[in-house]
Amino acid sequence: KARGRGRVVLFEEAMDASVQRRQAIEKDLREAIAAGNQFELYYQPVHDARTRAVIGAEALVRWRHPLLGLMAPATFVPIAEECGLIEPIGEWVLREALAAARDWPLESIAINLSAVQLRNPALVDIVQGAIMASGIEPRRVELEITETSFVEDEDICRANVAALRAQGVRIALDDFGTGYSSFTHLRTFAVDRIKVDRSFVAGINRREGGSAIIRAIVGLANARGIAVTAEGVETDGQAEWLAAIGCGTLQGYLMSKPMPARAIGSWFDAGIA
Ligand code: C2E
Ligand code: CA
Ligand code: CA
Ligand code: CA
Repeated sequence: KARGRGRVVLFEEAMDASVQRRQAIEKDLREAIAAGNQFELYYQPVHDARTRAVIGAEALVRWRHPLLGLMAPATFVPIAEECGLIEPIGEWVLREALAAARDWPLESIAINLSAVQLRNPALVDIVQGAIMASGIEPRRVELEITETSFVEDEDICRANVAALRAQGVRIALDDFGTGYSSFTHLRTFAVDRIKVDRSFVAGINRREGGSAIIRAIVGLANARGIAVTAEGVETDGQAEWLAAIGCGTLQGYLMSKPMPARAIGSWFDAGIA
């Protein structure tokens, strides 16, 4: 029993440490939003699967913490979602990405939306405001949502998606296949694109099952006129197989990693893409 109690104390200390770390991040996030210049967008190119030409880009947020350096979204987006800070961050991402991409020679600029943003009744106005401010055509704007976003407030999420699509904005279902009802969503839900999760792409070389799942997803999507992007493409073998089965676009370290706006901008200036 004494040993058991010792473990509980250790557990509580570990809890304390993670709670404290979380509170510190929350406090720093509030300061970052007030300061207004600590967030940065990286852009990962999206490639045509057959020609490998760059046809789009996805904006991925980073936080340049004054002491801790460049932080990945996984370390702060979940905390920002819980303490109500993802709204201002998300709106900044939207405005920044649309303004940057307006003059890039790309069909589309993709932006990740948090579940919290998707259930905000003001989302359509916020997106419209960012589109107007940037002057970009709505058809070039693609918003990436995940099916797990629909677990709460499904009605408002659906209404937001329908209203955005009615304005010409495209909707992509991100991390497709990781939710437990992906195929049901695909049948009952109108989207413009699905993004096959990296875990399935990683399975192409190893397991027959992984390949069979992607083949089924691509087949179903193509039959319904939905575009398909495969994410996390890291080998030529994966890229060739995906192109062969009719997956239209690819994203992954094989072709290009996320890069700062200035880097992708000078790429276009140099006529590389
Ligand atoms: P995601 O939307 O699924 O983005 C893809 C992630 O996979 C990115 O990580 C990207 O850098 C990484 N990736 C791309 N190609 C490869 C590859 O070939 N191999 C491997 N191993 N990884 C690859 P990142 O930038 O750390 O973003 C992680 C997640 O954070 C994103 O997943 C997205 O869910 C979220 N996120 C990023 N930016 C935003 C944002 O502005 N708003 C919101 N709400 N979430 C964001
Ligand atoms: Ca995404
Ligand atoms: Ca994804
Ligand atoms: Ca993901």
